[in-house]
Parts: sequence; structure tokens; C-alpha cells
Amino acid sequence: MLPEGETLSTNKLKVKRSVDSATDGHRPALRSIEGLGEHADTPAVAVMQLRKTYPSGVEAVKGIDFEVAPGEVFGLLGPNGAGKSTTIGMLTTTVKPTSGSARLAGYDVATQPLLARSVSSVVFQDAVVDGALSGLVNLELHARLWGVPAEQANRRIGQLAEAVGLVELIERPVSSYSGGQRRRLEIARALVSSPRVLFLDEPTVGLDPRIRHELLDVIVGLRGREEMTILLTTHYLDEAQRLCDRVAIIHQGEIVALDSPEALLARLGREILEFRVDGSTDAALAALRERGIAREEAFAVGARVTVPLHQHAVTDALTAIDSERLHVSEIATRVPTLDDVYLQLTGARLGEAA
Ligand code: ADP
Repeated sequence: MLPEGETLSTNKLKVKRSVDSATDGHRPALRSIEGLGEHADTPAVAVMQLRKTYPSGVEAVKGIDFEVAPGEVFGLLGPNGAGKSTTIGMLTTTVKPTSGSARLAGYDVATQPLLARSVSSVVFQDAVVDGALSGLVNLELHARLWGVPAEQANRRIGQLAEAVGLVELIERPVSSYSGGQRRRLEIARALVSSPRVLFLDEPTVGLDPRIRHELLDVIVGLRGREEMTILLTTHYLDEAQRLCDRVAIIHQGEIVALDSPEALLARLGREILEFRVDGSTDAALAALRERGIAREEAFAVGARVTVPLHQHAVTDALTAIDSERLHVSEIATRVPTLDDVYLQLTGARLGEAA
């Protein structure tokens, strides 16, 4: 493999050439640049010590690192204010990093923004499609903006309308679409340019639960049809669990865990016991650890104690609680969720943390 510097200088030459060609309206040339497809080993997204401190002094992102492989669906999971949108902003070149670097398919977002944008596409939380125009015209306009040749654009739009389930509506003005339909059109719009990396910023925010699940189905379907990398942000755990190959859990601008949802959940075993304690939760945890029922990863938040059971039977745990004369209530077992993972790592629930 070439040392990084050499790959970079090759990319720089390409930047020069393609920027030149972009000026005369041939942006698709960016995508057909010789050698682009040869970088199968190049991460689709590579983030190194990326940091953003806003002029107000808010440290929104505190030096994060992660890589996303081509074809992977990667989730940034965290509550409101965690730094997800700021991260997406830096990756999509709309927010200037304070320090560190980020590359999309090898292109540096700070020093090669045109190329980084040429290989990526983003679906924002706010609508960008024009309500007065039909879905079809919106997609055609976007294809023209990207310099996609008409014939290729028609084919692509046909495929995308089908992929997002809008074939029947495509000729209707977007103002007549429901929220979910509009969001699907936004996704189709972002895909017209055949991006290598698709950014979805809170794709289902503001949608009612049924529509949300429909949209998730569409995204799952796209995974199968399109060869692309998806980086999405969400504060919905089920969304991350359902869609993502790997998830980075972000808490106050830092990544506190990064793994597949399955691996994150596996830390907590298959079943957890949860109860409220009337008294000291620390003492309760210590007693259960002493008896070998609770391991290190058992935790308490407020009066609520969470004990991953691992190989222990519930009855063993109940016997231990009884023998220790712990005053407990609301005792229940359930399967762990990513919320437990988040809670254990940060001491806060996703919905509550700021
Ligand atoms: P998330 O997308 O996870 O909700 P954000 O990236 O939007 O988080 O915000 C992270 C932190 O940065 C928050 O404290 C937020 O108030 C702050 N922040 C976001 N945008 C700006 C901005 N333009 N100027 C100053 N502070 C900002």
C-alpha cells in the first residue's frame, strides 16, 4: 500500500484536473476520474481528531476519531446537543472544523471541499425540495444541477422513484405529499447524483411512528439496491439498532463507545434485572457484587439498579436480594437495549441528556 502522502498527492492532481473541468459545467467528470474506483481500500469516511469549538466557546465536538468502510451503514447516536449535526456539518463542508481532519473517499473536507462534495450527498432535516413543482421536476432539476446527462438522469430517476415508493406520485406537486412522502423524495433527490457517501441527518425526526417505520423500510431497501455508504445521525435507539452495521455513541462531543449494535448489547448479556431500591443503591450493588450476582457493568441511576444477569438465573438474583434484605420494588427482567448501553456509559438516558 502507498504511504498516505503519496495517495494524497495523487488525489491533489485529480483535484486540479477535475476542478478545471467542473468550471465548464461537466461535474460528472468528477465521478469518472480515472482511478477513483481503484481505492476500494480507502475508507468511505475517515475522521481524525476532529474538533469544533464554536466562536461562542461551546465545544460541540471534542476530537473524535472513526472510520466508515465502503458499503457500511454507520450511525452517530446521541441525544440532542451531543454534537451529531456539527459532525455532519463538518463532513458536508458547511461547518469549518477547528482542528483535526475528515476525508470522504480520500478527499479532505477542508482542503478538497469540491471533491469531497462531489462524492457525497446529504439529506437535511429541513426540506429542500420545491413544493410547487412535481417530484419528477424536482429530481430532474437536481440531476441537471449535478450535470447528470439527461438519459442517465431519466433512468436513475425511474429507479429511485421505485426504490423510495413514489412512482404513483411522482408527477404530483410536492405540496400535496405527506411528510413521509416528502422525506422519501428528499432521499431520492440526494441519490440522483449516485453519491458514494449518503448523509442522513435525523432522517425520521418529526414523522409519526407508522411513517417512521415505512421510511426505515425504504432505507433498509436502499441498502440492498445501492452500493453506497450511509452515515446517519439519530437519537432513536431502535433506528440505530435496525439500520446500522456499527454505531458510535456520542456524549457531549465525545465518542464513548463504537461497535456493532450486537456487540454493544452483548456486553450486557441476554437478560437484565431491573429494580428500584429504597436505600443506598451503591450498597445494594456492592452486596450483589459480593455475592457474585452483579458484575462490574451493573449500574445504578437514581434509585434504579440495572443488573445484567449473564449466566445467572433470575431466581439466584432474587434469593440474593432477599438474603441481603434489600428493600426493592418494581422488579422486572427484560432484554437489554442500546438505551441501557447508553445509560451505563453516560449515566443519562438518551431522551433526557442534554
Ligand atoms: P446534536 O446534533 O447532537 O443535537 P449539535 O451538533 O447540534 O448536536 O450541537 C452540539 C452543541 O453545539 C450544542 O451545545 C449546541 O447548542 C451547540 N451549537 C450547535 N450549533 C451551534 C452554533 N452555530 N453556534 C454555537 N453553538 C452551536
